[in-house]
Amino acid sequence: MASKIRNVAPFFCILLLLACAGREEANVEGEADRQRPIVDSLNNESSASQGWKEPMLYVLGTLQDGGAPHMGCDRPCCRNLFLRPATDRKVVSLGIADFKSGSGQLAMFEATPDVASQWHALQSLSGLADVLPSIFLTHAHIGHYSGLMFLGREVLGATGIQVHAMPRFRQFLQTNGPWDQLISLGNIVVNSLAEDSIVQVTERVQTLPIRVPHRDEYSETVGYRIMGPNHTVLFIPDIDKWERWEHDLKHELSLVDRAYLDATFFDASEVGYRDMSEIPHPFMVETMDFLGALSAAEKSKVHFIHMNHTNPCLSDTSFAYRHVVASGFHIARMDDAYPL
Ligand SMILES: [Zn+2]
Ligand SMILES: [Zn+2]
Ligand SMILES: [Zn+2]
Repeated sequence: MASKIRNVAPFFCILLLLACAGREEANVEGEADRQRPIVDSLNNESSASQGWKEPMLYVLGTLQDGGAPHMGCDRPCCRNLFLRPATDRKVVSLGIADFKSGSGQLAMFEATPDVASQWHALQSLSGLADVLPSIFLTHAHIGHYSGLMFLGREVLGATGIQVHAMPRFRQFLQTNGPWDQLISLGNIVVNSLAEDSIVQVTERVQTLPIRVPHRDEYSETVGYRIMGPNHTVLFIPDIDKWERWEHDLKHELSLVDRAYLDATFFDASEVGYRDMSEIPHPFMVETMDFLGALSAAEKSKVHFIHMNHTNPCLSDTSFAYRHVVASGFHIARMDDAYPL
């Protein structure tokens, strides 16, 4: 991602100026967003200690594969993060907790390079400190699965962690180092998913893998519909344009209560005003336009995720962030909790 946008510093400065100009007003909206119902902005107290019995979904990371600070980036988006890393800049991941009288089950969607802190966050937010999560993977791009390496003998030395991946992805893990060693040593057990076939995540949560178009060099790419007893969530962190998907996004949105959708780039200014149709992601402005005629209730289901380090929506004081919220959509935030 870094090389594509190396020559856009002037455009980014303009964006930053716009962001600064809107700072005072933006804080008001940022504040409003922070005052969501308690189940939607859980921070410190664990679900278990508060006695919630319904399964919970947690946002464990919101960034594109390269995270932030992004290697090689010396622009304002990352410059200060090299000096002082931010605790809310983690690569995209969701966590699931299913509680059961004093114990429970955990699952993670994606195993990112930030998996150590995300694994800990999931155990801590849920209060299930001794429970080992199972893992569901979307595809074999490094931000989405390379965290598996921490399960091996050099770090955790895990035993029997259940990993779920599509057949070609499973084959890739079985036949390429260092992943094959995780399997031969029993650190992980890789289960094969089938397209459009429901699997159990925990006792009360199920998921449905849905194929999506993306660069499939080493594996298929899927998104997931995640179904709890009360609420259903769509998770599509990486996808080519919505028009190239066999499914209709508006219909898929109608089937769920919330959707975490690919928001790699905000608009063309972020990629040096290259033709947006050439970039294999739906820009946030394209998604908002595509869904623009939907009701406010449908639009409010959308929570943008998988943001590139350059995405101005990573700052809740930016013009872009205010525009997204004013248009009726949401930006996913670390540690958000949502009852399933
Ligand atoms: Zn990605
Ligand atoms: Zn950057
Ligand atoms: Zn990808």
